[in-house]
Amino acid sequence: MNFYSLHKNAPKVSFKEAVINGIAPDGGLYFPEQIPQLPASFFDDIQDLSNLEIAYRALKPYVKEDIPEAILREILEEVLDFDFPLVPINENVSTLELFHGPTMAFKDVGARFMARSLGYFFKNSEEKVTVLVATSGDTGGAVANGFLGVAGVEVVILYPSGKVSDIQERQLTTLGQNITALQVNGTFDDCQRMVKRAFVDPGLQGKVQLTSANSINVARWLPQMLYYLFAYKHLKVKGKELVFSVPSGNFGNICAGMIAQRMGMPVRHFIASTNVNDTVPKYMQTAMYDPKPSTATISNAMDVGDPSNFIRIQHIYNDDFSQLKEHLSSYSFSDKETKEAIKILYAKAGYIADPHGAVGYLGLRKYQKKHPETYGIFLETAHPVKFMDVVSSTLNIPLSLPPQIEKIMHRKKVSIGISKYEELAKFLLK
Ligand SMILES: *Cc1c(COP(=O)(O)O)cnc(C)c1O
Repeated sequence: MNFYSLHKNAPKVSFKEAVINGIAPDGGLYFPEQIPQLPASFFDDIQDLSNLEIAYRALKPYVKEDIPEAILREILEEVLDFDFPLVPINENVSTLELFHGPTMAFKDVGARFMARSLGYFFKNSEEKVTVLVATSGDTGGAVANGFLGVAGVEVVILYPSGKVSDIQERQLTTLGQNITALQVNGTFDDCQRMVKRAFVDPGLQGKVQLTSANSINVARWLPQMLYYLFAYKHLKVKGKELVFSVPSGNFGNICAGMIAQRMGMPVRHFIASTNVNDTVPKYMQTAMYDPKPSTATISNAMDVGDPSNFIRIQHIYNDDFSQLKEHLSSYSFSDKETKEAIKILYAKAGYIADPHGAVGYLGLRKYQKKHPETYGIFLETAHPVKFMDVVSSTLNIPLSLPPQIEKIMHRKKVSIGISKYEELAKFLLK
């Protein structure tokens, strides 16, 4: 499978090159040249397949020229060593819990898959690759954990000082080995600017091989399609059309779900649920794409004003607004509504949701008011304990720490403080 740049001004590349480059030389995102089809029998018999087998069949067509069968199976076995339960909320709604991985956010799957792919590509290489990533919270932890101890790969994470939660900071700064955390005296936007500048800095080119590990990277993006296939496998309700509500920030996750649909999975509709960062909900109303600087909310992993993967979504629907509208609805919710939803889910279903999942629930509820005949799944993208303060104060209950988190609470945080780009460049060159 080859991948082309959505800016159409760069050579087609293999999966391997697309992963190593991250973004195409013309600044475009990579997109697969074909969307492979899974046969109807795959979906008819999906209950009988293990998660591993589902993942293997779905991802093989994208990577088979670059990752041999046996290695792909090995990688997937390591990546998918936790559960993805579908928890019923009421007779027309379930939630798909994606937070049972090591950092308790759904990004673990993509980050681990990318880490192991890169590790395989650089296994016998003299060269080293440096993964450079800016995080507003969850990405950094998932990437750090996914890449820990992977030979040939150095990881440098930039995070804004004082603007991530204590648990999130511990997940980035307590691992050591090939992981370095740079604490930036500034905002997330400052971190992101420094990372972008490093990628085009002539002073680094030819000296450091850099790649990115956010959802623009195909190795982080594509494996997310597996969530939807796993949900479909667990679905017990038959005869109702299926809709997914996805709490969205950079729109990588929902876009991967749309790829699963294009591969043949029966889905009626997608709902992109956002917080007040409503660039896409606005676009779906007005057909005008007007990105804005992000606003801070209690669902901070979705505080994105210019979602990087939305261009891929438009491409899936041939850059045609009316086609897109048939497949996607998008709604935005305030922090106040999000807290109300956390209360309702707890009162009515005894379910403790995190703020991101709660936004997903709200989007689904809004859609189902008009389409009560559908069966809806909202994705629960993080464990509520990662947003302990908001969740426990909203519900007035204490939350206990799961073992993954407990384990890091007593480790020492280690990071290097930087304030300007020159300090990052100097660090990368040494
Ligand atoms: C990253 C993240 C999201 C947003 O996912 P996108 O793929 O960027 O749309 C939602 N919820 C949580 C908890 C996240 O960490």
